[in-house]
Amino acid sequence: MVSSEAAPYAKTGGLADVVGALPPALRSFGDEVTVLVPRYGSIDLKGARRVYDSLPIYLGPARYDTAVYQAAEGSPFYLLDCPRLYDRKGFYGESGMDYPDNHIRFAVFARAALAAARVLFRTEIFHCHDWQTGPLPAYLRTMFSTDPTFLGAKTLFTIHNLGYQGLFPRSVLPEVALDPSVYRPPGGMEFFGKVSYIKGGIEFADALSTVSPTYAREIQTPEYGFGLDGALRARSEVLTGILNGVDYREWSPDVDPLIPAQFSASDLGGKQLCKEHLVREFGLPPEAMARPLIGIVSRFTPQKGADLIAEVAGQLVAEDLYVVALGTGDPEYEELFLSMAAEHPGRIAVRLGFDNGLAHRIEAGADIYLMPSRYEPCGLNQIYSLRYGTVPVVRATGGLDDTIEEETGFKFAEYSGPALLGAVRAAVEAYTNQEAWRDMMRRGMQKDFSWKASAAAYSALYRRLLGRA
Ligand code: ADP
Repeated sequence: MVSSEAAPYAKTGGLADVVGALPPALRSFGDEVTVLVPRYGSIDLKGARRVYDSLPIYLGPARYDTAVYQAAEGSPFYLLDCPRLYDRKGFYGESGMDYPDNHIRFAVFARAALAAARVLFRTEIFHCHDWQTGPLPAYLRTMFSTDPTFLGAKTLFTIHNLGYQGLFPRSVLPEVALDPSVYRPPGGMEFFGKVSYIKGGIEFADALSTVSPTYAREIQTPEYGFGLDGALRARSEVLTGILNGVDYREWSPDVDPLIPAQFSASDLGGKQLCKEHLVREFGLPPEAMARPLIGIVSRFTPQKGADLIAEVAGQLVAEDLYVVALGTGDPEYEELFLSMAAEHPGRIAVRLGFDNGLAHRIEAGADIYLMPSRYEPCGLNQIYSLRYGTVPVVRATGGLDDTIEEETGFKFAEYSGPALLGAVRAAVEAYTNQEAWRDMMRRGMQKDFSWKASAAAYSALYRRLLGRA
C-alpha cells in the first residue's frame, strides 16, 4: 500500500484510519501487506529500523536521496525518508497554504514506492490511496511498462474523497518526469488544462475502489463527480465500493477509557452519567437532561452541511432541544458555529479544536448525532454513534445512506434546511417514547461494522485482480 497517511504515524482524517487498520485485518486472509508512508517531521524515527540506506530517485535532471525505515521490528509500516521533501511541520502545507512543491513531493513518493518494491519486496499489487499516489499507476504503465521487475504487477486505486484531486499547472510535467503521453486526453491526466494526480489513478490503475457502495455510484454522476464523473463512468466496470470498517477497540462504550462512565446495550445506565457530564462540560442548563441533546463532531468544511444547520438553527432550538458541537476547519464555518452559539446561548454550545477525548465524550453523552453532509464517501462518526447508542440523523448520501437504516436512525434526502428539520423533528418525536427509543438505541449498538467484512472484500478484490478468484 502506498499512502500519504496511516494512523498512528500521520493522520488528518478517515484515510489514515483505513490505512492504519486494514493491513493487520488483511493478515487473517493470508495477505501480506507492506505500507509506505512519507516520513514527515512529526514522525519520530526512534525505534525505527533503517532497512535501505540510499535509494536515489531521479526525476528529470534532479536527484532526490531517499532512505527507507521500518517503523518497528516486524511492523508492516515503512517510512520513506527524504528530509528535503518531507521533514516539515505539515503533511500537505502550513498555515492554510499548500506547499508549493507538492507535485514533486508526491511524484518522488510514487517513484520511491516503485524503487522500494524493486529492492525490498516482490510486489504483486500496488494499492494506492487518493491523489497523492495517483502518479504511481501512470509511471508504472508508461516509464516502467517493459520493466521485467513489474511484469504482472497490478494496481488498485482507492478514492477516499473525490473532492481533493491534486491539480497542478501543465508546466510541472517535465519536472516530475511524466511522459507527455500520460497527459493527453482522453484517458490521460489532463483535467481542464491542468495535470490531475487523481486522474493518474483513475485512468491508469487496473482497478478502482471507493469507500462505500453508494459513493461508488454517486461519483459517476455530475452532482457528485467534481468534473470526473465522465472519466469514472468510462471505468465503471472496474470500480467498486467497499465500506470502511471501524476500530471497536477504540470506539466501544463498554471499554472506552475516555468517557466518564462505561455502558452497553444490556446496561445503558452509564449513558445517563455521560450525558450529565457533557451537559456540564458545555455549560448547558440542567433542564437539558430531560430533552434531546444533539451532538456534532466534524471537520468544519462545506462538505459537512453546516450551512443547513445554520439555516434552521432557530427552528431547531424551538423544538426544545440542545446542541453541542466540536470541530475545526475553515474560518468561515468556525465563525458560523460560533455565531449560532452566540445567538442561542444555553441551547447551542460550540468548541473549536481537534480533541479526541471530547469527540468520545460527545459520542457517549449525546442522544442524537447529526451529520447532514453534502457528500460523504463513508463517514465514521455515524458508525461510532450507533455503537454508543446515539441515534444518527443523517443525510442519505454515500456511506451515510449505506450504514444507517430506518430501524437505527433517521435520514433525509434533499440537501435543504427544511429536509434536515423534518428528520430532526421525527427524531425528537420518537424520543418522547423512551421505551421505543431505547429499543432503537440497542438495535444500533448491536450493528457490526468491524474491519473483518471490509478486509474480506479487499482480499477478494486482490485475488480477482491477480486472476485467482
Ligand atoms: P472525514 O474523514 O471526512 O473527516 P470521517 O467521519 O470519515 O470524516 O472521519 C473523521 C474522523 O476524525 C473521526 O474519527 C472523528 O472523530 C475525527 N474528528 C473530526 N473532527 C474532529 C475534532 N474536531 N476533534 C476530534 N476528532 C475529530
